[in-house]
Amino acid sequence: MKRDLAGQATLVTGAGRGIGAAIARELALQGSDVALVDLGAFDDAERVAEELRALGRQAVALRADVSDFAAAEHAVAEAVGTLGKLDGLVCNAGITRDAVSWKMTEAAWDAVLDVNLKGCFAFCRAAAPVFRGQRRGSIVTIASINGMRGKFGQSNYAASKAGVIGLTKALARELGPSGVNVNCVAPGFIRTEMTASLPPAVVERAVEESALGRLGETDEVAAVVAFLLSDRARYITGEIIKVDGGQYI
Ligand code: NAD
Repeated sequence: MKRDLAGQATLVTGAGRGIGAAIARELALQGSDVALVDLGAFDDAERVAEELRALGRQAVALRADVSDFAAAEHAVAEAVGTLGKLDGLVCNAGITRDAVSWKMTEAAWDAVLDVNLKGCFAFCRAAAPVFRGQRRGSIVTIASINGMRGKFGQSNYAASKAGVIGLTKALARELGPSGVNVNCVAPGFIRTEMTASLPPAVVERAVEESALGRLGETDEVAAVVAFLLSDRARYITGEIIKVDGGQYI
């Protein structure tokens, strides 16, 4: 197998399960050592780290709340200390707290903005000095097609993911002169625990929307993230790539 990420070290947030765990596995298969950050699924992150070590990679699970600036700085420093360096960052941790806007609580708004947008920024901010110092690095943020098109019942989530897209573009401009690429992957409906609890009608609608007539799988998102982290994507920055089977064309 071609190992595009051989010798690299990457930090992935929300890596205990779902898309983040699939990304961690794909990066390890392509040769990268991985620091796996999680909070609620920290035990799962430890199990995934164990799997990656069995593949011969260095892997460490780190407990951190992504929305805490100090915790983000600490996690990045731990990743560099344990893996010896850092080449890539994947800001994947995210949550939903769906409700129509007129019933949205302040707590639901704040929680989603804190994790999805502030959490993404906190890790980019913490990794920026490392990447600027070595004049290379690659950041991939995870947004959603719902941040591009809006979604009924997801004003908080759509706003947070639209924010992630704006953040990606601003960081691409700020960090590009230091040789750092910053790109965003915007998945459509992917089968994970986050989407498992949704009503069947919502799932059927997503299948109907998709030009390919099916939901996406976590490894299909992970493959694109791995490409963006690789040297093969070195002239791509500030880009938003949908991985949605044509749900939003
Ligand atoms: P998931 O709920 O299965 O996994 C999210 C992970 O993030 C979990 O391991 C969770 O513990 C972790 N996390 C949550 N809050 C955290 C915090 N404060 N600090 C640290 N870790 C935290 O979700 P998923 O479906 O795998 O989604 C991953 C990303 O992809 C999210 O950003 C989500 O918005 C995005 N996304 C998912 C879909 C989908 O259909 N599943 C579609 C578009 C975008």
